[in-house]
Amino acid sequence: MVKKEFVVLGLGIFGKSVATTLAESGCEILVVDLNEDKINEIADKVTYAVKADATDADTLKTLGISNFDGAIIAMGESFESSVMATILVKELGIPYVLAKANSELHARILKRVGADMVVFPEKETGIKIANNLMSDNFFDAIELSSTFSMMDIEVLDEWIGKSLKDLKLRSTHKINVIGIRKKENLNINPAADDAIEKGDVLVIIGNNETLNKLANKKTQL
Ligand code: ADP
Repeated sequence: MVKKEFVVLGLGIFGKSVATTLAESGCEILVVDLNEDKINEIADKVTYAVKADATDADTLKTLGISNFDGAIIAMGESFESSVMATILVKELGIPYVLAKANSELHARILKRVGADMVVFPEKETGIKIANNLMSDNFFDAIELSSTFSMMDIEVLDEWIGKSLKDLKLRSTHKINVIGIRKKENLNINPAADDAIEKGDVLVIIGNNETLNKLANKKTQL
């Protein structure tokens, strides 16, 4: 299998952790930063570490990144540099460009100039931590996006004896039951008519807010 190749521009906490994680997973990683210390710190963990200005078109061209699989634009506070670098790597033909933004407006601009995906790590982590704090059970959830998660939920007393069809979780609460756990056995193809028994655990996907209420058993379904 051909190794995936990524370029990471900017080695703050975000860029560095993306670069080292991708490198540990076996990807070819080229990193660029203006700061020599940052380059030296990461040099033996990635394929190439280059001290250069990521907003310089000639430098980027010389690095030969046009056939890379993706670019990560992680220049922190330097918004103007992020915009320029996004335009330049897109012009070089990199198919997938992910940029880090600090605000909604910055995100919109980065998308306009070609970023395929924009992330707000601080905001996204804040949401995740708040969700975790609201409910102990939420620690068992797998976050699928900032809005949706998958989690295990022990059946509520009022569900016992009813079927998934009776509960209407999907139509009423937009909760999808993707499996039912009975002791050690997980049935990933639950039938709409099967009666729910005491002790069953439902594997569900839904909106974080709804899942939280459910985890705290505050909601009457
Ligand atoms: P974050 O907090 O988002 O992880 P930081 O602001 O701490 O990011 O770090 C941004 C990094 O980007 C710094 O290491 C800085 O040297 C680097 N950087 C900023 N502008 C450029 C540029 N034009 N070319 C290359 N690297 C840059």
